Amino acid sequence: MERIYLSRREGGLGLTKINQAYKEAIVSIGQYLEISEDENIKKVAQYHNEALSQQTSITKQAKNFAGELLEETMGTEQTPAAMIAKKTSYKFSSREEKLRMERWKHHGRAGRFQGELGKGYIDKEESHIWLKNGNLGFDGKKMIVGAQAQGLLTNGFKKMTGISGNDQCGFCYTAVEIVGHVVSACHTLLADGQYTARHNMIYKYTYWKICKECNIEVKDKIWEHEPDPVTSNRCITIFYDKIILTGGDIGGAIKPDNVICNE
Ligand SMILES: [Zn+2]
Repeated sequence: MERIYLSRREGGLGLTKINQAYKEAIVSIGQYLEISEDENIKKVAQYHNEALSQQTSITKQAKNFAGELLEETMGTEQTPAAMIAKKTSYKFSSREEKLRMERWKHHGRAGRFQGELGKGYIDKEESHIWLKNGNLGFDGKKMIVGAQAQGLLTNGFKKMTGISGNDQCGFCYTAVEIVGHVVSACHTLLADGQYTARHNMIYKYTYWKICKECNIEVKDKIWEHEPDPVTSNRCITIFYDKIILTGGDIGGAIKPDNVICNE
């Protein structure tokens, strides 16, 4: 839920929380009343401080919401009270956004996506660009955000919450239906490897083209040429769908499609 009210650059949906908007307005007005040098405004502030209750006094509510963020220095001509009030409201809104972010991070299920985003090899900004661009409709966004937050109503989720006793995938019936399985591991949804076969045909073509460019002998027809895991001539070595041993853990992806070593 916290994510809905975060800004889009932070991966949220950018909705305005009505409760938060109300508090920001109160903080801004309360701050203005407290530091304005105008004699009439001072009287209003005094009335709110002395005659009104906690629930109806703007100044008391502002202290309650923003606390130590409120400035005590009176406004001057150079820094008018209205400007200070705006700044205080902004500080208050930033603090609340940080708190929302923390709550999202520490959420047992939805927070896992934040954990993934924090990994060194993930470009956080690029990961949120689809949200910033806003090309998807509400239903599309809802589906993706739901999947990232592990919040889709899968059979695994239904069993966990006691709605149903069956947690098996409704497409392949061979595994527990969780978001990760549906998105990237279900053989039925992945057309029994047909997508991989199509993908392999494309990089078979790039392999064949590279060989031709480097004067390595290949058959005339791409479909007749079966690539070797390692192909080389005097100056170049081409690895095709081969596991590359790395010095350290690079988080998977050690079997690239084509690798060219140009010596
Ligand atoms: Zn499945």
